[in-house]
Amino acid sequence: MALPLVRTVADLRARVRAWRAEGLGVGFVPTMGALHEGHLSLVRLARTKADRVVTSLFVNPTQFGPSEDFDAYPRDEARDAGLLEGAGCHLLYAPAVAEMYPEGASTIVTVCGVAEPLEGAARPGHFAGVATVVTKLLNQCGPDVAVFGQKDFQQLAVIRRLVADLDIPVEIVGAPTMRADDGLALSSRNAYLTAEERQQAPALHQVLQTLLRNLRDGESVAAVERVALDALARAGFQRIDYVEVRHPATLERLGPGPTDGPVRVLAAARLGKTRLIDNVGD
Ligand code: AMP
Repeated sequence: MALPLVRTVADLRARVRAWRAEGLGVGFVPTMGALHEGHLSLVRLARTKADRVVTSLFVNPTQFGPSEDFDAYPRDEARDAGLLEGAGCHLLYAPAVAEMYPEGASTIVTVCGVAEPLEGAARPGHFAGVATVVTKLLNQCGPDVAVFGQKDFQQLAVIRRLVADLDIPVEIVGAPTMRADDGLALSSRNAYLTAEERQQAPALHQVLQTLLRNLRDGESVAAVERVALDALARAGFQRIDYVEVRHPATLERLGPGPTDGPVRVLAAARLGKTRLIDNVGD
């Protein structure tokens, strides 16, 4: 049996209402499609937390900048539906842009503080697009639990913040980052890498791990960040937007001295045309 598919808010709500009438709990996994094992791990995690799992597939135009890859973003709904069915998803929600943003839509959700540095600084408007679409998706589906990947660590922090601030009644669960055997975080955008770039790409994760190890060995935040920046440049990365040690909840800057408190180390850099992000913690 093929995975059930709905394209409208009304149809999504009708399905969820029917499950609720049976007393079933609902989990939700938002995605932009081009699915890989990372996405499927979120679906599997959601299944352990809810009786029914909805996955959304929506390439959200408002979170792409004007010079970014919205048009080129890989799309293959039939393939994605097959993968989701195999992972135990119960319903695919794939709205059109006009369903999500009907004529006249004028409301934008802006998260301050945690959404401002790092990706917020490198991609102006990105988190407003993310926060707006996630708020809408959560309102449309009304799940008990929603699962997001730590791969997009700042996005997860932004969503935790907006759910708390807007009193959205959902539990947000963060899922660990799925990686290739060589350490590269799985990402739909890895498809853009040339064969040579794919060989260079695992250096991003290696540099972050080394940075964290050096920090835990007592080196200063300023020193480990400087060494990591050089290492990324030597590994062939261009336009390194940031490689920084931050507080894991607020994403505020730490340093410049040594620290033995909780940290998250985050980086974003380009290999050729592909922008990669990654993060590690302990
Ligand atoms: P995207 O389709 O890129 O918007 O991602 C949809 C969800 O999958 C987000 O919550 C991401 O953080 C998560 N995700 C993406 N890549 C991975 C990965 N390698 N491991 C775990 N989760 C991921």
